[in-house]
Amino acid sequence: MSNRASPSGGALESATVTANGLLLKKSRGAGVAIAYRRHSAHLMASQNPVAEAPNIWAVAQSQFDHAADKLDLDEDMRRVLRVPQRELTVNFPVTMDDGSVSVFTGHRVQHNVSRGPGKGGIRYHQDVTLDEVRALAMWMSWKCACVNIPYGGAKGGVVVDPKKLSIREVEGLTRRFTTEISPLIGPDRDIPAPDVNTNAQTMAWMMDTYSMHRGYTVHGVVTGKPISVGGSLGRNEATARGAVFTLLKWAEAKSQPLTDARVAIQGYGNAGSIAATLLAEQGCRIVAVSDSQGGILNDAGLDPAKVSAWKREHGTVVGFPGSSDINNQEILEVDCDILVPAALENQITRNNAPRIRAKVVAEAANGPTTPDADEVLFDRGVFVIPDILCNAGGVTVSYFEWVQDMQSFFWTEERINESLKGIMDRAFEAVRAMSDQHEVDMRTAAYMVAVARVAEATTLRGLYP
Ligand code: NAD
Repeated sequence: MSNRASPSGGALESATVTANGLLLKKSRGAGVAIAYRRHSAHLMASQNPVAEAPNIWAVAQSQFDHAADKLDLDEDMRRVLRVPQRELTVNFPVTMDDGSVSVFTGHRVQHNVSRGPGKGGIRYHQDVTLDEVRALAMWMSWKCACVNIPYGGAKGGVVVDPKKLSIREVEGLTRRFTTEISPLIGPDRDIPAPDVNTNAQTMAWMMDTYSMHRGYTVHGVVTGKPISVGGSLGRNEATARGAVFTLLKWAEAKSQPLTDARVAIQGYGNAGSIAATLLAEQGCRIVAVSDSQGGILNDAGLDPAKVSAWKREHGTVVGFPGSSDINNQEILEVDCDILVPAALENQITRNNAPRIRAKVVAEAANGPTTPDADEVLFDRGVFVIPDILCNAGGVTVSYFEWVQDMQSFFWTEERINESLKGIMDRAFEAVRAMSDQHEVDMRTAAYMVAVARVAEATTLRGLYP
């Protein structure tokens, strides 16, 4: 342990910090402080109103409250971290192809930027709400802190169904939205990335728009760009690769080789299909996969490359030769060692959790397990690698993209994958240590690691003025 002084001098007299950087206590009568206390294995999820609360922002806040309770987080710090730091709502006009003008509403929210610039995707969806963007921004704070990359949490969204617009209209919307949120974003301020219904092309338009305003190219304002305009090698595979690194750590911790492990994957898009390929390379047997149209099962193992080729040709994995059909609920209950939810939220619930047969659930998707299901899985000894750890490989390689853009020096894919492994391994170890130390499940531990890091940064910086 060591004592640290506040970098701003005087705002914080002394803070006791453990070897892993977690703040234990500090000497100041009032203001922000956190302290740890050893807790029993009793989970507090039953007090969590998530199952009854459809509002995703209420869910995010209750998850934060749970971690804050476990950390004995000071009331003042809770008030600071429980709400977003900045929210911008914009209503902006776009000229449509028929010459009419439509007005769209969008949001950009920064939850906390104590650890660095805001980081988080831009979502285009007809159901986007300010509350949803707040929740996603808060989760980004925890995800970046969990893997210890120097970002705060942010998120953005526009209320629109882009499938109803032409490409030209989507481009116009993207350029005007970028302009409207330009007071908040920038390579040193807040760095957007793709999310639902946005992609590398969207990021190229955002980067170009921001650069036109500046009069020179600013690659680092967004990540997830095409390689030819400052994107990074390895970004496309990063989420799945990071998830596989966490599974390798689980295998090491449990002395459970991945070779011949039976794997079921729900969702066969970017995260799911690449996870299938990488796990097959580790010697795993991919026994079942699914997409929005249904699933396929073959006990002898599916060849991911052939399944991907089939999906490209037929638009779905369903009907793949030599497999039998299963539905998207059955896939979760398949006899397997490793279950990878890689599609949607709220898939593993209190209803099906008792029937999950996997030894480990690797959450490539965001929010696939409900809090009450978590409790069931924990009681049954199913190891869950939580989303803010498991799928953080994507934002980690986004971080590498930003570093490369800022230095105008681009790394080899080998260096990217090696650096990703280092970050994912260290994050897994920190969460596992927290889980062991406090006898809590991995999700609670991941939140505790993350919230403690954000609280520590916020404390050490002190309150201005
Ligand atoms: P994607 O759109 O590439 O793939 C999603 C897949 O899920 C598709 O195969 C789709 O058919 C399938 N799907 C949709 N509804 C389904 C259903 N009801 N049952 C089964 N499958 C269904 O998306 P993605 O980028 O692979 O993202 C998947 C999940 O991973 C999301 O939760 C996303 O937030 C999360 N995630 C992705 C990244 C990334 O970098 N791609 C990073 C972090 C988290």
